[in-house]
Amino acid sequence: MSICLREVSHIYGKGSPYEKVALTGIDLELHRHEFVGIIGHTGSGKSTLVQHLNGLLTPTTGTVTVDGVSLAGTGAEAKAARRRVGMVFQYPEHQLFEETIAEDIAFGPRNLGWDEETVQERVRAAMRFVGLPYRQFASRSPFRLSGGQMRRVAIAGVIAMKPDYLVLDEPSAGLDPVGRREIYAQITRLHEEQHTTVILVSHNMEDISRLASRVIVMNRGAVMLDGAPLTIFTQHRDELAAAGLEPPPVSRLLSALNERGWQIDESAVEPDEAAAHIKARLTRLPAAPAARPPKETRHAR
Ligand code: ADP
Repeated sequence: MSICLREVSHIYGKGSPYEKVALTGIDLELHRHEFVGIIGHTGSGKSTLVQHLNGLLTPTTGTVTVDGVSLAGTGAEAKAARRRVGMVFQYPEHQLFEETIAEDIAFGPRNLGWDEETVQERVRAAMRFVGLPYRQFASRSPFRLSGGQMRRVAIAGVIAMKPDYLVLDEPSAGLDPVGRREIYAQITRLHEEQHTTVILVSHNMEDISRLASRVIVMNRGAVMLDGAPLTIFTQHRDELAAAGLEPPPVSRLLSALNERGWQIDESAVEPDEAAAHIKARLTRLPAAPAARPPKETRHAR
C-alpha cells in the first residue's frame, strides 16, 4: 500500500512562452503509515509535487498510483483513490466559507455522499480531534476564531473525510509558537493513533527532524536526497548547502563542536538529546588534577 510516482515530470504552460519545468524524473514510493517530511528551497517543486499525490495536478509525463490505482483514470476507482489522499494547503483557513464551524467541516464529507448520520459523526470526531469541542464550537462562525483555531477547523474538514494519506503543505505557516505546537501535536496524534500516513512539507528543519521518519530533499524539481533525518542532516551537509538548506540548529551546534575537536555523538534531533550528548562528553573529559587528600589523612602522617 503506497503512493507511487514513476518518472513523473511536470511542465507549467507547456508550449507557451512561460513554459516552466517544475518537476523532472520523480521516482518515489510513499508507504502507508510513514511520516515523510519534504524540504527544499522555495521554487524547488515541493508544492507541485504534493499536488500530484491526489490528482490535483496531472503529470506531464509519468504516472501516479495510489494503492495500485492510477490517478489518471476518470472512473469510479480512480476517483476513490484520489479521495484516499487528503490535502491541507498553505493557509487552509482561506477556504473556510460556511456560516458555522460544523457546516464547514461537514462540507467535504457531505460531498462524498455519506448519509447525514455518518457526516455528523465524522464532524464531531474531527472537532474533538482538533480540540474544538462540538457543544462549544459547532454553531459558531469560523471567522470569529483565532488564526490557530481557524486552521484547526480547516484541518478538521480534511480529517473528517478520513483520508488514509494526509498531505500538509506548510501547516504551521504564520502561526505563533503555541498554535504551531498544537497543530503538530494533533498531526502526530493522527499518525500515532489512527495510523494516518503523513506527508508534510515544511521550511522548518527542526520540525521535520523531530517529526518525520523519512526526509525527501527537493532541489530544482528533482529528488536530491531521500533518507532518515539524522543521516540527511549529519552526513549530507554539503548537498543540503548546495540546495540552499541548513540542517536544524541542534545538528549545526553538535557539528560545530566536533569541528573544534570535541568528538561528540551527533545523533540528536531534540535540544534535550543534544544537551545529554554534550553532558556525556563533558564527563569523559580528561580527569581534573588530583584533589588534595582529605585533611585527616594528612594529619595522620
Ligand atoms: P516550492 O513549493 O518548492 O516553492 P513550486 O512547486 O511552487 O515550488 O514551484 C516549482 C517551480 O514551478 C517554480 O519555479 C515556480 O515558479 C513554478 N510554478 C509553480 N506554480 C506555477 C504555476 N501555476 N505556473 C507557472 N509556474 C509555476
